[in-house]
Amino acid sequence: MSTQTKIKTQKEIIQICRRFKKRKKTVVTYNGSFDILHLGHIKSLEEAKVQGDVLIVPLNSDKSVRIYKGPNHPIISEGERAQTLAVLNCVDYVVLFDEINPKEILNKIKPDIHCHGADWGKDCVEREVVEQNGGQIHILKTVPGLSTSALVKKIISIYAKPEVRAVFLDRDGTININEPEYPHKKEDFKFIPGVLPALRKLSKTDYKIIIVTNQLGVGRGYFTEKDLQEIHRYMLSQFKKSGIRIDRIYYCIHTERDNCSCRKPKTGMTESAAKDFGLNLSKSWIVGDSPKDIQMGREANLKTIFVGKRFPDDLKFRPHYSVKNLAEAVKVILKK
Ligand SMILES: [Mg+2]
Ligand SMILES: [Zn+2]
Repeated sequence: MSTQTKIKTQKEIIQICRRFKKRKKTVVTYNGSFDILHLGHIKSLEEAKVQGDVLIVPLNSDKSVRIYKGPNHPIISEGERAQTLAVLNCVDYVVLFDEINPKEILNKIKPDIHCHGADWGKDCVEREVVEQNGGQIHILKTVPGLSTSALVKKIISIYAKPEVRAVFLDRDGTININEPEYPHKKEDFKFIPGVLPALRKLSKTDYKIIIVTNQLGVGRGYFTEKDLQEIHRYMLSQFKKSGIRIDRIYYCIHTERDNCSCRKPKTGMTESAAKDFGLNLSKSWIVGDSPKDIQMGREANLKTIFVGKRFPDDLKFRPHYSVKNLAEAVKVILKK
């Protein structure tokens, strides 16, 4: 049955119930507002379904939900709630009702079994009308921890905290001139023009500023990890003098042979930073001058900015933006 044909008017549902009764089918009802459907609802609906042959869900209309939950409810409109329920295999029919409780609609459906949550047990207000029509009440098991209000509390607590975002920066060729190859001496370490003022601007935002750099030269034995840390100390001292905040540097000193998880285009350094800073990567950026930076960024769900000459046309992972240098990249980021 298509989902639309499961949603019935009250008139139609009365007709349908008459036919089922004639064929000695057991009609089960389980009502609710089902605003933001969750696994607790689904478990209850499945349990309700196996109590008989046909499960009819009387669904509180928007008008009805407003009466008992206040004018801002429901979160999801009746049409959407009805369609969502109709997708479920265990639900045979959905019918809307406008009252504060389902007594009136149950008096029309006359279910053989009416299911109810454990909160009031058999003392639910529907009991009398169900039993008068020859039916009985079935109390559903509750699934602990699953409720709409628990979900909403979690959503509120997640969205109440400001999101932590980062700008990841490649080092060689993005921050400093990548010459001579494997720059690792103070005297060779030259900032690309425009980098310092751009990073000073970026330092005034709430973006974490994180450098992620492959330092293959260590793995190949051209210089030591100590040399690398020395050059980073130097770089950071220059940044500090210029009023630039760098929150952390992650580096990979491995070669391809090591098969590590940190060497770009692998995403290990970004994942470490995400964990260390609690980042939302989808709202973070990578700026780099190598297709490896872009591939890493795309695989980690970052927004990517390629800096330098034309990005090669034949590559699978294209950057979101392509600009001349880091200063322009920062402009792109600050515009967003
Ligand atoms: Mg580079
Ligand atoms: Zn590595």
